[in-house]
Amino acid sequence: MLNIRPWKRLRRFIARQPIVGRGGILLYHRVAELAHDPWSIAVTPAEFAAHLAVLQKCAVCLRLESFLTRRAEGTLPRNAVALTFDDGYADNLTAALPLLETYGIPATLFALSGFVGSNQETWWDRLLQAVFDSQDLPSELEISIGGRKMTWKRPVDATDADMRRALHGQLYDAFASVDTPEHEAAFAALMRELSWKPQLRRSHRPLTNDELRELAASPLISIGAHTRSHPYLARVPPGRQQAELAGGKAELEARLDRLIDMFAYPHGSFDATTVRLAREAGYSWGFNSVASIVPHRIDPLRMPRISVEGMSDESFERFLTVHGIRQRRRANG
Ligand SMILES: [Zn+2]
Repeated sequence: MLNIRPWKRLRRFIARQPIVGRGGILLYHRVAELAHDPWSIAVTPAEFAAHLAVLQKCAVCLRLESFLTRRAEGTLPRNAVALTFDDGYADNLTAALPLLETYGIPATLFALSGFVGSNQETWWDRLLQAVFDSQDLPSELEISIGGRKMTWKRPVDATDADMRRALHGQLYDAFASVDTPEHEAAFAALMRELSWKPQLRRSHRPLTNDELRELAASPLISIGAHTRSHPYLARVPPGRQQAELAGGKAELEARLDRLIDMFAYPHGSFDATTVRLAREAGYSWGFNSVASIVPHRIDPLRMPRISVEGMSDESFERFLTVHGIRQRRRANG
């Protein structure tokens, strides 16, 4: 007869364990001061410096590749951290790298290949620019986005700021609901309606290809892919997903002359098909934005990352504790 008592004890023991994984991968985008940042994707240089000082004190900061290797070997410390950046804004080189060098903390950049080296802002920044920098909003707006008509009427008693926020929200949802190749015609229509001309703002520019190579040459920096045009992958057909997954990888490999086998899902959007296609495209590791420490058992193409917003050093320490990276009972760890 099977003695089930030890199993029960083991189950109770496992249930009592507060942490079911170890180490956290942090997700940043920008180190900059922005006038409009509806998704809180920027931390200021002062906040980033404060975060790095906290990490130096409370965590073991590893290159993402070492984090993954030590995890596979079972030697990853509980308070291990790897830093990642998405997209490829120029401030990653001009503002983030000098601070990473000061603290000797490594990071990985997941570069959007159609943005880096281009002379155009990302589609979400162009949308913000169109709505918040155009002079006067029209009383009505009607544009076609991917064949769908979007209409907007200026509300009677809203403040200018509220009105622009509401219009931006509606436009963002409409743009996000169609695939990125549909965006250009919609931007042209929006330019006509708002009498707006897009500019490449210094504050929102991408890395040039030379700057990408300069970052990649730093011993602190490694590079992964992030598609070509930043679509919501799970919302587009498999053929389009495959083109974005393979295209982003091939373009970066050509520019950097090295193998790229790490990938971050734009907008954290993926499903089982995306994961299969990422594997078929040759990626060994995929990173999403599910806010969790890294579980003990996890598909390497479904690695979670914890998004970090701008916050003070005290809030960041609490943030690390809440997410199970910094341990509560240690005096300094
Ligand atoms: Zn991104």
